[in-house]
Amino acid sequence: MKEKRKGGLTRLLAYAGGYRKLTYLGCLLSAVSAVLAIIPYICVWQVAHLLIQSYPDISRATGLEQWGWTAMICAAASVVVYYGALMCTHVSAFRAARNMRRIAVSHALTLPLGFFTLNESGRIRKIVDDNASLTEDVLAHSLPDLVGTVVTPIAAVVLMFWFDWRMGVLALIPLVLSIYALYCTMGGERAGFYYRYQEQLGKLSADAVEYVRGIPVVKVFQQTVHSFKAFYRTIRDTGDLASQYSLSCRPGYTAFETLVNSAFLLLVPAAMLMATSENGWDVLTDFVFYALLAPACGNMFMRIMFVGQSSMMAKEAVRKLDWLMDQKPLPEPVSPKHPAGSDVVFDHVSFTYPGSEAKALDDVSFTVGKGTVAALVGPSGGGKTTAASMIPRFWDADSGTVSIGGTDVRDIRTEELMDDVAFVFQDTRLFSGTIRDNILAGRPDASEQEVLAAAEAAQCGDIIGRFPDGLDTVVVTGGAHLSGGEAQRVAIARMMLKDAPVVVLDEATAFADPDNEWRIQKALEKLAEGKTVLIVAHRLSTVRNADAIYVMDGGRVVESGTHDSLVGSEGLYAEMWEDYRRSVEWHVGREASA
Ligand code: ADP
Ligand code: MG
Repeated sequence: MKEKRKGGLTRLLAYAGGYRKLTYLGCLLSAVSAVLAIIPYICVWQVAHLLIQSYPDISRATGLEQWGWTAMICAAASVVVYYGALMCTHVSAFRAARNMRRIAVSHALTLPLGFFTLNESGRIRKIVDDNASLTEDVLAHSLPDLVGTVVTPIAAVVLMFWFDWRMGVLALIPLVLSIYALYCTMGGERAGFYYRYQEQLGKLSADAVEYVRGIPVVKVFQQTVHSFKAFYRTIRDTGDLASQYSLSCRPGYTAFETLVNSAFLLLVPAAMLMATSENGWDVLTDFVFYALLAPACGNMFMRIMFVGQSSMMAKEAVRKLDWLMDQKPLPEPVSPKHPAGSDVVFDHVSFTYPGSEAKALDDVSFTVGKGTVAALVGPSGGGKTTAASMIPRFWDADSGTVSIGGTDVRDIRTEELMDDVAFVFQDTRLFSGTIRDNILAGRPDASEQEVLAAAEAAQCGDIIGRFPDGLDTVVVTGGAHLSGGEAQRVAIARMMLKDAPVVVLDEATAFADPDNEWRIQKALEKLAEGKTVLIVAHRLSTVRNADAIYVMDGGRVVESGTHDSLVGSEGLYAEMWEDYRRSVEWHVGREASA
């Protein structure tokens, strides 16, 4: 783990694999290009030198043309070599980005499904995608530019000392001071600002999403902006943070800007002094050189700033990827077993969500007999969804076992388990594609007839009939929108096609319309035919005919039995049933008197 936390750039480069060498070549070419870019300055100096020497009869000066050509060729060569450098770094950067995406995605595929319920898909996409493109930027552009940025001033400094070391020193003093000013402004512990700012931006975008999601509520309830104090405060905080930082940078940055452009401040008086005591013409030609090169050097230092920023971005990219890679994969069985049958047994199962303290499931035991329907009911937060999601291993039990056909689910290969268990959860989401694609995902080699039959059995007929493209209607991105209930019916059609022996259903809590509710009921009945079914029920009407009912409260099974026996026992279920009955009567009563 220690070794993992090496510098951001080194880590990024490691992702390029063998292509890393191209990055090194690119950096080398970039350095060559930087040196080539300096040569024209020398040429100009040479021309100035020749002109001054032959003054006042300038026409006597020879070799001017030669220097002119050299300058031009070197300038052109510098551009060409830089182009080559970027080609190399790009190839390597794309490779690194591709590998990052690939590693991240293949790791994500090994994670337990529960991971994806805890982390929004947006966040994972960001890690996989944004970081990879960030890598492209850093490796393809910033790195070769960094090399050029470092090489140019070094070469310039060497030249400066070569021509006249006194002027070299004088030209350098303001530059060194300017770098110091820049370091005080950006470097050291102040570099931490970048992370704070990134964190603040993350919070800002999360709050913004929350805000947008809340707009319908605001409209319906005629609320004002005051109900979004949190968002408002975050905007203010972000603004404050940015302006605070900008203000605190002001003195240092002003000093940098001033110093970096004040090479002449010392050079001019020095040249004047030297000119009186030495050969004035020589001093003048040297001065021309420094006058040209010193400001160019200053501009180079400006670029260092951006390089610093992108190396911080690289670090951030690596840190996020590390977070993903540190997530523990779902352990695969060493010696896999096959389930013998389809009965589902919970045996003293306890489970606590990662990062949570209270047990979500506390010593839960129940059985769903082969080919029977069992229902989990109880107050919200009782642990029903959690229990249901243990069967397809969204999570693994902390203690106790969940087994199918007498085999611990942890001993069944994930692929086989996924074949054996069909599950439809509350917040069904379809992936973008056609309705047909979404249904076919249940069994990709199904025939057209089978798809149609599944759609029909899952009560999707009205959905398909509503769109001119029928089964080929594109859902989600840029296509038709299906309501939550409709999406759940399409998901049920998918499960029908899959035809798994164990079916786990988490009934949606609320439907927009009774028609949808009724259709889903019908679809579920069809899906459950001849299967071992565990259903999490929110409406007691659904469970009346279940073979067994388990009442969950506070993570425990507090009652169990059939509907009739439970109603007779005057416990929690009887109470719930009484409430339910009264609410139905109330409806009927209202309708009758209306
Ligand atoms: P139910 O489906 O009966 O309403 P759940 O299984 O969703 O209940 O929740 C059981 C308990 O686990 C609750 O106390 C809930 O707050 C907690 N819980 C549910 N999901 C998570 C999660 N992702 N992280 C932490 N705690 C959770
Ligand atoms: Mg639930």
